[in-house]
Amino acid sequence: MTTAVVVGSGPNGLAAAIRLATSGVRVVVLEAQERPGGGTRTSELTLPGLLHDDCAAFHPTGVASPYFRSLELERHGLRWLWPEVDLAHPLDDGRAGLAARDLGLTDTSLGADARRWRRLFAPALRNFDDLIGEVFQPVAHLPRHPITLGRFGLNAMQPATLLARRFSDEPAKALLTGVAAHAFSRLDTPFSGSVGMMLTTTAHAVGWPVAEGGSESITRALLAVLAAHGGVVHTGVRVDSLADVAAYADGVPDILMLDTSPTAALRILPTLPGGIRRALGRYRYGPAAYKLDIAIEGDIPWRNPDCARAGTLHLGGTAEEMVATEGRVVRGEMPERPFVLLGQQYLVDPSRSAGGVNPIYAYAHVPHGYAGDATEAILSQIERFAPGFRERLVAVAPRDPAGLEQHNENYVGGDIATGANHARQILFRPRIALDPYTLGSAGSGADRVRAYLCSSATPPGAGVHGMGGFHAANSALRHLRR
Ligand SMILES: Cc1cc2nc3c(=O)[nH]c(=O)nc-3n(C[C@H](O)[C@H](O)[C@H](O)COP(=O)(O)OP(=O)(O)OC[C@H]3O[C@@H](n4cnc5c(N)ncnc54)[C@H](O)[C@@H]3O)c2cc1C
Repeated sequence: MTTAVVVGSGPNGLAAAIRLATSGVRVVVLEAQERPGGGTRTSELTLPGLLHDDCAAFHPTGVASPYFRSLELERHGLRWLWPEVDLAHPLDDGRAGLAARDLGLTDTSLGADARRWRRLFAPALRNFDDLIGEVFQPVAHLPRHPITLGRFGLNAMQPATLLARRFSDEPAKALLTGVAAHAFSRLDTPFSGSVGMMLTTTAHAVGWPVAEGGSESITRALLAVLAAHGGVVHTGVRVDSLADVAAYADGVPDILMLDTSPTAALRILPTLPGGIRRALGRYRYGPAAYKLDIAIEGDIPWRNPDCARAGTLHLGGTAEEMVATEGRVVRGEMPERPFVLLGQQYLVDPSRSAGGVNPIYAYAHVPHGYAGDATEAILSQIERFAPGFRERLVAVAPRDPAGLEQHNENYVGGDIATGANHARQILFRPRIALDPYTLGSAGSGADRVRAYLCSSATPPGAGVHGMGGFHAANSALRHLRR
């Protein structure tokens, strides 16, 4: 029987494991941490009874993922919950841009720009499933829907600054620029609009839901599917070499699937082919997140009442301000008022709260490896749009870039996307290749193994969707059949 070891139990690792197990491969997953799930874990980070998502919180890519959909995770206990407003971007003057599945809410918030907004997103929304099929795979492929992809690509390839210029007023400009900032990159370079175009389209098409009980419910559902197909998971096992793997698989397996950073792949497999080793060595990481989990009495007193209905909030001010702050972060400078993403998952999932105290999720964009304390900067950004917020604070739990990397070593230097999102790495990650998942063979003689990378350092990049794992497993299965 063919054997596979998957190193890492993030959503991509588990998706790869399931794809292989359902194809008759014997699968063992090795996870360094004591709990499986990688970026999809949930913990009581501030007070007992308060559930905070350690990493991923909002799941437009999860609910849209063709592979997750095919696994019917809802039959294994996963329940998506949608906030009324998917995303709000408040401004200092009290206005806010809103993105929601109900386009009427967006229209009202954008005023004169509403028609231009609809014109920008209408083609992608009309063909959303076709589009997802195209963009959730490597760029170098024969498209089945070339017109849909081409139309989308013409906008996605533009700098976010250019896309924002289509609008006349700040709510629309800031709303789009704030979503583009999810790329953790400069916002004035080619392709910097791509993440903004994609994530905004998902907000209107499928929403930005949360998982009931926390994102860890996604892990639990994936683990249930894997177990049903005979897959086994060992936690507390950090893999540093092929020998570590062999100990859990009765020898060197046929397939080694790495849900790791390219840096870890080089460490585990020092005998990879030279060209691949050099390409992985050139792989670059991007800016970091500084996470702050907060417990508050009651709700956040937002100046703009629509913000009290939003699952996600972007606290970054105007488009111009975000272009400047994101640029500084990329250059390694810490801005006084960083871009902050805030989550109010408890609004639709009361199971996360306890006794009138609610969990708030927040993180700021900070320079790669930032060693300072961003707690004050994050609290000030919230207070800026919600005066009186500090009076409701009950507890805070910070996690700096080093803490994030300790929690999950794929977040190198605190880079939660496991790789910088500059144009080349948006298009080709981790290297320029028709099959970017395969790493070739490593080891020697009877200890030779075919290795693959499946983490968010591969297409389609960061996010909880499992598509990197799905495609990498397909690549391995194709090689087996040859
Ligand atoms: C603060 C934060 C907020 C985020 N918000 C969102 C969000 O709202 N929505 C969203 O879709 N995404 C979000 N993300 C990103 C998302 O979590 C990741 O893109 C996703 O988890 C990547 O999945 P993965 O399977 O590639 O890797 P990961 O989930 O990173 O998992 C990798 C696993 O591999 C293990 N591992 C690594 N090296 C080794 C080794 N040598 N030996 C053994 N095990 C190893 C790690 O311990 C980890 O468990 C966020 C991330 C963070 C940190």
